[in-house]
Amino acid sequence: MIKSGRHLVPIIPMKPIKHRIHDLYTHRKSLSTKSFNARGKNVSRCKLCLQNIKWCICEHRRQLASNASFLLLMYDDEVLKPSNTGRLIADLFPETYPFLWSRVEVEQKLLDLIQNPEYQPVLIFPDEYAESEIVFSESSSLEFSGKKTLFILLDGTWREAIKMFRKSEYLRGIPMLSFSPEFVSEYVIRKGQRDFQLGTAEVAAMALECFGEKPNAEALKQWSNVFKESALLGRNKRPISTLTPFSEYIEQFEIAHEKAIMAKLD
Ligand SMILES: [Zn+2]
Repeated sequence: MIKSGRHLVPIIPMKPIKHRIHDLYTHRKSLSTKSFNARGKNVSRCKLCLQNIKWCICEHRRQLASNASFLLLMYDDEVLKPSNTGRLIADLFPETYPFLWSRVEVEQKLLDLIQNPEYQPVLIFPDEYAESEIVFSESSSLEFSGKKTLFILLDGTWREAIKMFRKSEYLRGIPMLSFSPEFVSEYVIRKGQRDFQLGTAEVAAMALECFGEKPNAEALKQWSNVFKESALLGRNKRPISTLTPFSEYIEQFEIAHEKAIMAKLD
């Protein structure tokens, strides 16, 4: 809607590029027999970022270059949830491959990716569950000669992640990356976050940090901040006068994004 007025300039948004999570969203939606009731179901949402249309973040989304790639195993209707942060990884990293997890069937494409000799899969999961012989920690060197690192993330609640791990034979024996409690708590403290619950995008940012791509990790963190703020604004529960302007979140992301691109060019 374009209103006439001195200060209101019509904005022509750039057409955002669709990525694999958008396609998976459409696919998962087509499988639903009943409509998915997200919290705030009466809100009109953008079909790509799933945020309140008033706070759509799509025009700010921009990709990065990375030597890492990501495989997301998404539990059931996780991809339909506006609160899911797995999609933020795909927003920035072109090589993000999402799959719907199934206990009974495994997609051949998923197995092909895990077994592809050009990739070195690394499952991110706590070492207390380790069944792999190789367990990396945040201080390990994650360099695999000539191979692209494929981080595997189990995207769901904690209980769902454990279930996916236990019931997926093809995840056995894959080297694991586990973060020590000290590393996680330091990360949480640096972020100024109150609880210790980490979203999928935050776990991916920690993996990138260990992988030696700190500027990319920082850009992903800033993008997560933009996302969280747009979600809060969409719920519209806080007095506007207390808020940091949304443009500042965007600006922080743009700065981090530029630094990450420059770091790759060095
Ligand atoms: Zn959007």
